[in-house]
Amino acid sequence: MKNLIAANWKLNPTSKNKAEDIFERIKKGVKDTTAEVVVCPPFVFLPLLKGLALGAQNIFYEEKGAFTGEISPAMLKDLGVEYVIIGHSERRKYFGETDETVNKKIIKALTAGLKIIFCIGETAEERDVGKKNEILQRQIQQGLKDIVDIENISVAYEPVWAIGTGNNCSVEETKESIDFIRKFVKQDTRILYGGSVKSENSGAYIKEARANGLLVGGASLNAEEFANIVKSAE
Ligand code: PEP
Repeated sequence: MKNLIAANWKLNPTSKNKAEDIFERIKKGVKDTTAEVVVCPPFVFLPLLKGLALGAQNIFYEEKGAFTGEISPAMLKDLGVEYVIIGHSERRKYFGETDETVNKKIIKALTAGLKIIFCIGETAEERDVGKKNEILQRQIQQGLKDIVDIENISVAYEPVWAIGTGNNCSVEETKESIDFIRKFVKQDTRILYGGSVKSENSGAYIKEARANGLLVGGASLNAEEFANIVKSAE
C-alpha cells in the first residue's frame, strides 16, 4: 500500500495563474515519487489542472436539482476528479457539517466512484477533558454508518487544535490515536495524519507514528516544501 500525501489548498490561491504555477512546480517536484500524491484545490481550478491526481474539498449529497451553489459527486467524477475530502473540521465548524451530513456525503461520493479522505479529530477542549477517544469513536462510527465496503476510504486524523496553528501533534500521541482509530476500520485502511505538517516533522509521522500518509494544508501551497514532504513519506 502506497502512502497517500494529499494537498489541501483550502481557499487558496487567489488566481488561476497562481494555482497553475504552484501545481506545475509540485508536479515537477514529485515526478519520481513512489508515494501517491493528490492535490485538492478549490473547485474552480479543478478543470484547469492536469497531470496529478485531483481531489475536491467538499461535495453535496444530492446528484442534481434545486440546490443552489452546490456541486455533486457525479459532476466531480465526470471531470476526472479522483478524491474528495469529507468532514474537514473547518467545514464542521464554519458550515454546520454534522456526523449525519458527513455520512450522507460519504455514501453518495462512494456510489459515484470517488475515493474519500474522511477527516476526524478532537478539539482542544475535548482533549483537555479527556474525551478524545470518545469523540474519535463517535465521528468514525457515525460517519461510516451503514457503509460496509470501506476500501475506497482513507481516514485522516486531524486534531483540530493542530490545524493551521504550527502546534503539530506529537508523534507519540499521534501513534496512540492511530492505533485507537485502527480498531474501527480494516487492517489495510489508510490512516493519515494532518495538522501543521512540515518537511521537518513529516517523516516521523510515517516512520514512527505509522501513519499511511499525510493531509497537508498550509505547507502544500509551497511547492518545494510540499515536494520535500512527499519525499519524506516514500
Ligand atoms: C488541513 O487543512 O487539513 C491541515 C492539516 O492544515 P495545516 O497543514 O495547515 O495544519
